[in-house]
Amino acid sequence: MPSPSQKVALVTGAARGIGLATAKRFLAEGWHVALLDIEGELLDRAVASLADPDNTLALHCDVSDAGAVAKAMAAVSGRFGRLDALVNNAGIAVFAPLLDTSDEDWCRILSVNLTGPFLCTKAAAPLMREHGGAIVNITSISAVRASTLRSAYGTSKAGLAHLTKQLAVELASLGIRVNAVAPGPVETAMAKQVHTPEIRADYHDAIPLNRYGLEEELAEAIFFLCSERSSYITGQILAVDGGFDAAGIGLP
Ligand code: NAD
Repeated sequence: MPSPSQKVALVTGAARGIGLATAKRFLAEGWHVALLDIEGELLDRAVASLADPDNTLALHCDVSDAGAVAKAMAAVSGRFGRLDALVNNAGIAVFAPLLDTSDEDWCRILSVNLTGPFLCTKAAAPLMREHGGAIVNITSISAVRASTLRSAYGTSKAGLAHLTKQLAVELASLGIRVNAVAPGPVETAMAKQVHTPEIRADYHDAIPLNRYGLEEELAEAIFFLCSERSSYITGQILAVDGGFDAAGIGLP
């Protein structure tokens, strides 16, 4: 059990990519971190590689499964006794035109990317209300820019962006701030899976800073929005995208 002042974060989708970088960022600041992921073996390997395994808790869980989320939150409560930050980062992407988007893909993307954060937030809020807390949802530039390939993914992220504002207003009375980080392209396993060479070339032309983002750059913004340094910020969507949104060019 941590000391009363020891802060605790739960990061979903933390076995790799932006989620793992975020977990490391919290650990570097002395927080305890619960790392949650559907890929159990990958998660266990990631947690074993962290500098101080005593500060961590690995949770094998599908964020779209309400029962599993409730069990995971009970494990956080049992181990750490409090929760100060929730990062709803777990997500999946399928880039396809509407006619090639299966009903199953549509439902799964909405379940993981939108219902997952709803379930995790609902389970986390009672744990957070004693000390107050911060929630950061990971949306995407696809939430605000339409394209030919992202009807399901973009819609799930736009829903999550709106849920962020809704819950910022609703949970303020519990002392819980809710914000979102909207990444541009970041070189992770997800990007390797869905970014074709054509998409990559177009991104380089469309991003004023002229490169993909780094996982650590996303983690920095996420940590800021969970920390006391952002104590008067709630209901905001922070684009971390090398200037892509500001430039106003269409998505590749
Ligand atoms: P990633 O694929 O490298 O990591 C995602 C993690 O989420 C994986 O470890 C995966 O196992 C886990 N996950 C997937 N489904 C899950 C579920 N149902 N329950 C629990 N865990 C689950 O992806 P990433 O690039 O690090 O993406 C992290 C977040 O950032 C996602 O929400 C993604 O949509 C968003 N994002 C990424 C990019 C990018 O270019 N990489 C751009 C914009 C937004």
